[in-house]
Amino acid sequence: MTGEQYVESMRKLNLQVYMFGEKIENPVDDPILRPSLNSVKATYDMAQKPEYEDLMTATSHMTGEKINRFTHIHQGTDDLVKKVKMQRLMGQKTAACFQRCVGMDAFNATYSTSFEIDKKYGTNYHKNFVEFMKYCQTNDLTVDGAMTDPKGDRSLAPHAQADPDLFLRVVERREDGVVVRGAKAHQTGIINSHEVLVMPTIAMGPDDKDYAVAFSVPTDSEGILMIIGRQSCDTRKLEGSQIDVGNSEFGGMEALVVFDDVFVPNDRIFLNGEHEFAGMLVERFAGYHRQSYGGCKVGVGDVLIGAAAVAADYNGVPKASHIKDKLIEMTHLNETLYCCGIACSAEGTQTESGNYMIDLLLANVCKQNVTRFPYEIARLAEDIAGGLVVTAPSEKDLKDPLVGPYVDKYFRGVNVVSTENRFRILRLIENLTLGSAAVGYRTESMHGAGSPQAQRIMISRQGNLAMKKELAKAIAKIEE
Ligand code: SF4
Ligand code: FE
Repeated sequence: MTGEQYVESMRKLNLQVYMFGEKIENPVDDPILRPSLNSVKATYDMAQKPEYEDLMTATSHMTGEKINRFTHIHQGTDDLVKKVKMQRLMGQKTAACFQRCVGMDAFNATYSTSFEIDKKYGTNYHKNFVEFMKYCQTNDLTVDGAMTDPKGDRSLAPHAQADPDLFLRVVERREDGVVVRGAKAHQTGIINSHEVLVMPTIAMGPDDKDYAVAFSVPTDSEGILMIIGRQSCDTRKLEGSQIDVGNSEFGGMEALVVFDDVFVPNDRIFLNGEHEFAGMLVERFAGYHRQSYGGCKVGVGDVLIGAAAVAADYNGVPKASHIKDKLIEMTHLNETLYCCGIACSAEGTQTESGNYMIDLLLANVCKQNVTRFPYEIARLAEDIAGGLVVTAPSEKDLKDPLVGPYVDKYFRGVNVVSTENRFRILRLIENLTLGSAAVGYRTESMHGAGSPQAQRIMISRQGNLAMKKELAKAIAKIEE
């Protein structure tokens, strides 16, 4: 699809979207929500450009057709590397979360896991999934990968919660499918997606059989409703000032998605009660999304580093040695994240189903670094930019006949640069570090794709300490 065709396809959906206590009849044109749609639209627009064809498109191994890479099943480590490069590119062009990767990561995790379930139980999940995948590729769909349940009391298993709906579960089994109830929280891009691909959120035991379920349904299915999460400065988008929002075209969004007795037909079920595979699906999806952050956050980081350097130019200090050193430090941190994203991709391996998985240890190291480095990059950007990031008056004041000349005069940096341009770059830094995009760049760096402790558990599991002890003993000539 072209970007425009994508936008029109979203208009046709009958989504149940709520924000500020009201139903949003037309989410596509809502001024608060539109920037997030534009970011997804960019994944279509960019795929149309010949110069980005190699990164943004791929050849389907199922249909042989040219497809958008966001719907691709990775066929080699080369695909994994290109995925990260595509995400860095998209981050550079949107300076926001472009939302479509959660679906891509869910596709690849479900593809291999469903294959292994079928192998053990003779079920039909992989065949179902392949049909669904062909449908997504052929129609160039955006799919929300939905994993995070609300989880209630974190010390209790799904079945032991006071409210059994705090993890999404099957409430009815019918001849033609199942009925599910529950919710998924923090759903990136759900209102900009055609389909939702639901997965369990944790490893599960036999008592959680009803919770071990994976499936896909259209986002406007009966019983699905979405409640938009607030972002800092969200209502600033209603003021109509391009300068004050910092990034007027692009943004991200998250929502709580409620599944109030939603019917799932048999051919859209990819896991249903085989509880011991819930953990595999979670681990693989999380691994892929932790790899993703070594691309998208790096691209947004490129924009932030650039913005800090422009702010330094406008302040007249591009040659100050400490400024130069801070920009080097920001670059060093950002490229370290990229190294991790590329490394876990290059070290990928083939699964039994034939698609490729990232190296899980390196992907988790990647995301662990992402929980830290963007904070330091943001701190240095604020350091370089100066306090005006948070004290600059509004565009209305800058353009006001009475006070405008004072704002223009006293907030000018180097004389050859307009105060307006200085405000534009400072507002972009504000947007990335404190405003709407900070959801995607800062706090999402902490919690998206799993909170830091989740990676530490994986690092401890994958770190192979026993082998390292043997290495040490061999060198020390210890015989036990
Ligand atoms: Fe893609 Fe990054 Fe957004 Fe995840 S956080 S959907 S990887 S842009
Ligand atoms: Fe994310």
